[in-house]
Amino acid sequence: MNYSSTNGDTQVGSLREALFQTFSSTGGLLMPETINPLPKDFLANLHTFSFQEICLKVCMNLFGDEIPKQDVEKIIQKAFDFEIPLVEIYEKEVYSLELFHGKTLSFKDVGMSFMAELITYFLEKDKLENKTKKNNEVTILVATTGDTGSATASAFFKKEGIKVCILYPKNKLSLLQEKQLNTWGENITALEIDGTFEDCQRLVKEAITDKELNEKLQITTSNSYNIARLLPQCLYYFWAIAQLKGERRTAIFSVPSGNFGNLTAGIIAKKMGLRISRFIAATNINDVVPQYLLNGSFEPRPAVRTISSSMDTGNPVNFRRLLTLYNHSYTRFSADIAGYRLTDRRTKNTLKDLYEGYNYLADPHSTVAYAALKNYLTPESEVGIFFATAHPAKYYEVVKQTIFDVELEMPPFLEETLRKEKQIVSLSSKIDDLKEFLWGH
Ligand SMILES: *Cc1c(COP(=O)(O)O)cnc(C)c1O
Repeated sequence: MNYSSTNGDTQVGSLREALFQTFSSTGGLLMPETINPLPKDFLANLHTFSFQEICLKVCMNLFGDEIPKQDVEKIIQKAFDFEIPLVEIYEKEVYSLELFHGKTLSFKDVGMSFMAELITYFLEKDKLENKTKKNNEVTILVATTGDTGSATASAFFKKEGIKVCILYPKNKLSLLQEKQLNTWGENITALEIDGTFEDCQRLVKEAITDKELNEKLQITTSNSYNIARLLPQCLYYFWAIAQLKGERRTAIFSVPSGNFGNLTAGIIAKKMGLRISRFIAATNINDVVPQYLLNGSFEPRPAVRTISSSMDTGNPVNFRRLLTLYNHSYTRFSADIAGYRLTDRRTKNTLKDLYEGYNYLADPHSTVAYAALKNYLTPESEVGIFFATAHPAKYYEVVKQTIFDVELEMPPFLEETLRKEKQIVSLSSKIDDLKEFLWGH
């Protein structure tokens, strides 16, 4: 399988290269060059296969013959040690696909654990073949306001030969969010940056494309730029349909979106032949993509803070990948995807309605997707699935403020996190300071 760039410049020949290189020479994002449809009888009988079997078939189709089948099988087994249940909200109409049963309680655990197993696999292979590069060590940088950072830390924690540096903005996160990033220790370093989240993103991009650093280190990122994190996200679209057990109607997916990796993975799943009628790009008031869907013009702007903070993005990273998948055709793009935006006030009202009316407690991100689905669903011809991307306790403060008397137990991961001491390194937002730190690290 070849990977080509959204800028149409570089082409790389393997997943491994795409994984470590991340960007093309002109800053384009990498994508599979071709997406082959899966066999019709497999797609028609999804409900007869296990989760493992579905993952294996889809991965082999995506990766080609770069990794032997038995190795892909092991990677899948190690990466997914949690459930992804489809929960019925109202009878045969609306379902929630719960993607948050991984260690750090957000859907980011799915792509991240797979990426971590891939990296480990390539490092071990190098060792066996005596082809070790740069001490057989990899440095992973990630800019985050929460979920991506904790998922990265958890996926790579204590993994041999891997060092993770989490960059997050100083004084911008809640205590619960910060502690999920800076209490790990071991091979995980929390870098508190004196700047904004955008500064953290810029630093990551500058560092992983820096010539000097690349000469000395194998360095990459687990942010949305990386295709190895995005591809495994296709898997749960298949698994969702499989769990509908041969339902005749087609499915509409509502995806709570920020950088649009989740939605991009859905479009790739559809290109592989999965029966999906359409998608909803559900956002908070950071709605540059819903705006594009309305009027065809894409206008990035600074992000605004909301209660669904992991979707606060003013310039979604994967928009370029989406455009490439639709050959830059607005007509095709907007035929497949509808946009929807929800204010914080309506998010809180909907969260409450969903809890009081249907006894389902959703986090603010998942609530945005549910509201969007309700707006578009035509139950005669479609089944509606929205993604629940975070455990409600992960956004404890907001959920408690919205429903005062809710009983919300802290899952063990969050409770332990709150009890641990923080360990941080403070840095300015200058690339030279980060480079100096990485030299010595
Ligand atoms: C990251 C995140 C999103 C947004 O996902 P994208 O793939 O960036 O669109 C939605 N919900 C939660 C809880 C997240 O952590």
